[in-house]
Amino acid sequence: MKITEHLGSATKTLFSFEILPPLKGQSLKELLEGIAPLMDFNPPFVDVTYHREEFIYKKHPNGLLQKISTKKRPGTVGICAAIMNRFHIDAVPHILCGGFTKEETENALIDLNFIGVENVLALRGDAPKTEGKFIPEIDGHGFASELVEQIKMMNEGRYLHEETEIGFQTDFCVGVAGYPEKHFEAPSLRFDLKYLKEKVEKGAEYIVTQMFFDNEKFFKFVADVRAAGITVPIIPGIKPITTLGQITMLPRTFFLDLPDLLMDELEKCKTNAEVKEVGIEWSIQQSKELVKKGVPSLHFYTMSKADTTYKIAKEIF
Ligand code: FAD
Repeated sequence: MKITEHLGSATKTLFSFEILPPLKGQSLKELLEGIAPLMDFNPPFVDVTYHREEFIYKKHPNGLLQKISTKKRPGTVGICAAIMNRFHIDAVPHILCGGFTKEETENALIDLNFIGVENVLALRGDAPKTEGKFIPEIDGHGFASELVEQIKMMNEGRYLHEETEIGFQTDFCVGVAGYPEKHFEAPSLRFDLKYLKEKVEKGAEYIVTQMFFDNEKFFKFVADVRAAGITVPIIPGIKPITTLGQITMLPRTFFLDLPDLLMDELEKCKTNAEVKEVGIEWSIQQSKELVKKGVPSLHFYTMSKADTTYKIAKEIF
């Protein structure tokens, strides 16, 4: 079922979450068993992140260049299939502009359609750590809006090469990312919203937000998005802080602020266990307020660690 249908038929706030594919070498079984308890809260869909492939080249003793993949988390498509088979819920793979030509994207979308995926989250992706600036592939997409356009084109039965005989039509529901605290590259929130609107005009049907810790920022974002004329559902992303390291890592990595009130509590913590307790309580309060305001779904960034999300969801759903 499409995410828009799930949201449209819901009578209350839904529960959904995002997982990362396991690190190379770790098992799928462990991942599926790890998230199984979260099925208690009837998630209609689970997102599976995508991690782009980057290569380094080393000179081999035989004089030739050796191509080495640095990809640490393969398996997004396989995990989606496994989730749908095991839990009979929808899986939403993230698909990226970065690292893909349009043709590779087309082939990936055909694979996803064949395994029964009905929803995708279309993202640009970040620059590889070695590059510092996002550079699209030759014949790839530079912005998520272009990727949305390609998916919608396939939904109309149009392929990149007009001569391709079309035996079937895809029918993907497409989500995109939104940033309550602005995407870090955007010169202003107004510019960011202009491009968010472009993604919706090209066919995106719902928005999932970057994590945030201050609900007021989310409420203002929603008001600004609506004032810009964007009417699609907006799903807030929730991430409980669970370790001392995340207190500095999350703001630095995701370009967001931790509210003073939260920092006052985190500052008192000496261990990860103490941080986790504060983080869980903060997310519970955040979630309660968001539910009260009638958000369509609470979308948890689990980082594949279900126990924390379970404790929060138990208080809400
Ligand atoms: P875009 O919407 O393309 O925007 C990127 C920047 O370009 C913004 O600053 C925007 O304002 C600007 N812009 C957009 N269009 C134009 C235009 N036409 N002209 C000029 N400027 C423009 N990353 C992963 O690698 N894998 C994942 O699985 C993943 N999942 C994510 C899930 C969510 C919910 C979120 C919020 C992010 C996720 N990311 C993921 C991170 C994401 O890829 C990065 O934040 C990336 O830097 C931007 O992606 P985007 O789709 O928002 O890009």
